[in-house]
Amino acid sequence: SAQLIDGKAAAARVLAEVAAEVAVLKARGIEPALAVVLVGDDPASHVYVRNKVLRANEVGIRSLEYRLGANTSAEAVLEVVAGLNADASVNGILVQLPLPAHIDETRVLQAIDPAKDVDGFHSENVGGLSQGRPVLTPCTPAGCMRLLRDTLGDLSGKHAVVVGRSNIVGKPMAALLLAANCSVSVLHSRSVKPEKLCGQADIVVAAVGRPLLIGADWIKPGAVVIDVGINRIEENGRSRLVGDVDFDAVLPVASAITPVPGGVGPMTIAMLMHNTLLAARQQHGLTAQE
Ligand code: NAD
Repeated sequence: SAQLIDGKAAAARVLAEVAAEVAVLKARGIEPALAVVLVGDDPASHVYVRNKVLRANEVGIRSLEYRLGANTSAEAVLEVVAGLNADASVNGILVQLPLPAHIDETRVLQAIDPAKDVDGFHSENVGGLSQGRPVLTPCTPAGCMRLLRDTLGDLSGKHAVVVGRSNIVGKPMAALLLAANCSVSVLHSRSVKPEKLCGQADIVVAAVGRPLLIGADWIKPGAVVIDVGINRIEENGRSRLVGDVDFDAVLPVASAITPVPGGVGPMTIAMLMHNTLLAARQQHGLTAQE
């Protein structure tokens, strides 16, 4: 039976590291700050933003919240972003997605100063990741990389299959795995017999959004499986969260697997705090080692 990859414990380690480094910065008169911008009343987004703010405060990062109504114009959102870009006391800016349909998400994300883009979605950071320049990388894939390195150590030469090609998870995940010297395949909704290629992988990262899509027949014995999916399903009149991987079926086949919940989820916020710390350090001219 596979080893369980404990995302809560891994996230706690990252948060403890961040808290210690934040304390060092504060002793030098630098207080890292994260601004979170939320537009509209999507209930899940409100929960995410609340958790991000709570976590920031726990590690000593100052947080600023901007909650704007669902009818806010794109111009008004851009004005808030411009103000945060200009404010030297703000190190990280996160615009919670999705934005209401009348606002062009790309336009807003591109307006964020790339140095403060702690989600890593600005094209400057996307390009930097693809070119192998050190940049702020998207939090969920960065969290998956931490879990993989904790589990496997060096990833060189491994065959990694990423299922899903979204801009926020699948594509940056593939870029990070490539940068770690994996051979990378990306599967998506148009892939033919995806279970065939997936079944050859040493590492599987599932980011699809389809409950229990990936069964035992997709997994090579001994593979490491990272399940990014978060899907709410109704079962026997009760609602519960499941991943994209059929956990019970894959458990006897894989060598290690993340549970849902308690796997990738907690790592995402931890990496957001890590990115905010990095951004603050860079904005104050401190290198990673100092
Ligand atoms: P998305 O809808 O943007 O992308 C889904 C991808 O899956 C697409 O690229 C599509 O081509 C691919 N796909 C769809 N059906 C497929 C199939 N049958 N076979 C293979 N590929 C298929 O989703 P996303 O934003 O990347 O999120 C994916 C999942 O991860 C969702 O469940 C989401 O809730 C979850 N998620 C979790 C976190 C976290 O913190 N743990 C963060 C982001 C997303």
